Amino acid sequence: MNKQAEWVNYDKDYVWHPYSSMNSEVPVFPVSSASGVTITLQDGRKLIDGMSSWWCALHGYNHPVLNKAVTDQLQDMSHIMFGGLTHEPAAQLAATLVEITPEPLQTVFFSDSGSVSVEAAMKMAIQYWGALGLSKRQRFVSLRSGYHGDTFAAMSVCDPVTGMHSLFSETLTQQFFVESPQCLFNEACDEHDLAPLRKTLEQHQQQIAAVILEPIVQGAGGMHFYSPEFLVKARQLCDEFNVLLIADEIATGFGRTGKLFACEFANISPDIMCVGKSLTGGYMTLAATLTTDKISQVISQNPPGVFMHGPTFMANPLACAVANASIKLLLDSDWKSRVTKIESGLKSGLLVLADLPIVQNVRVLGAIGVVELKQAVDMKTIQPAFVDQGVWVRPFGKLVYLMPPFIISDIDLKKLTDAVRAVVSSL
Ligand SMILES: *Cc1c(COP(=O)(O)O)cnc(C)c1O
Repeated sequence: MNKQAEWVNYDKDYVWHPYSSMNSEVPVFPVSSASGVTITLQDGRKLIDGMSSWWCALHGYNHPVLNKAVTDQLQDMSHIMFGGLTHEPAAQLAATLVEITPEPLQTVFFSDSGSVSVEAAMKMAIQYWGALGLSKRQRFVSLRSGYHGDTFAAMSVCDPVTGMHSLFSETLTQQFFVESPQCLFNEACDEHDLAPLRKTLEQHQQQIAAVILEPIVQGAGGMHFYSPEFLVKARQLCDEFNVLLIADEIATGFGRTGKLFACEFANISPDIMCVGKSLTGGYMTLAATLTTDKISQVISQNPPGVFMHGPTFMANPLACAVANASIKLLLDSDWKSRVTKIESGLKSGLLVLADLPIVQNVRVLGAIGVVELKQAVDMKTIQPAFVDQGVWVRPFGKLVYLMPPFIISDIDLKKLTDAVRAVVSSL
């Protein structure tokens, strides 16, 4: 059991991991199983999961209800093409998404990853204006420090520095970037904060299809939490300048911030919204792009009369079935008080780190706790240090952060924050 399996060497020799070098000295840990909030490594060590597998595993791993949803669906069909055919899990999921998202979102386009749902959102915006005879409107406004995925159109609206736009400059569409909101989550926001967005819209309105942003929490681009007032005013500016608003809720959706969707902090509705990541509770890859009746009708009623996208694995039945089960599990649970409890556990465990000289800032919102350091961490040493502490925490750059599964117990949450305190204090 404990001896190094052969496949571990295959991984070393042949497999490219996310954002990694084939010559990296940063270790990759072999996992044999995961259950509840516990990840079991091949060598038998057990780690408490602080990452929810990148925002996804809301209910932890190996959940009996979600397992059953998958195995039940497997008996009927694991996959069927979505062109010309449909099935109950997809139709049911679409109805649920329409019901739980902001009111005017009425049409659901399924895809197989978050990045692709962003591509679909951008295409929808371009096709909408094209259908109205405004085919010059093909560019986008995005916020600095944003992250929207790794495919080319999605990448074009990611932060130009962290997204390495210079590397891809010959092929990447040049979009318009405005400063990341300086007004923080608990702060007010005035005209001054919105001035860069207003100016960009004033100058380039005729070319702009939409503003795309992550509502309230900017995730992989910096884990930055900004004021709901900014979002309120950004929505107003989109209306004033007659451009669409795309809300990328791929990271924030399904309760992570303390609201079911982060747009609810500002009480606004986007024209197009992307969901993914925790949509299936972390079981399968699935994403969706939602839009209004108005936009889907304008696209459908004008040439070419169709929306130009259709992934092979669109609305995969296994993924839709487990998404239905995961959303039901979430909504039937007392998730709000659970997230509030995690929020206070993260605050009491992490805020003290703000006093350390190497720490820039500590911030907590909902079930997200972030320790921002003054310098980037050395992954080669910090990653094993967390494993030695019995936790799975995966920092990036200057950020050490926690976003545990909602089912985590108070005791395990304390073990996570204790480990972060121990590791960060030792740096
Ligand atoms: C992760 C993420 C994406 C991309 O999703 P993938 O499934 O990795 O393609 C897009 N937008 C946001 C906000 C994300 O957090």
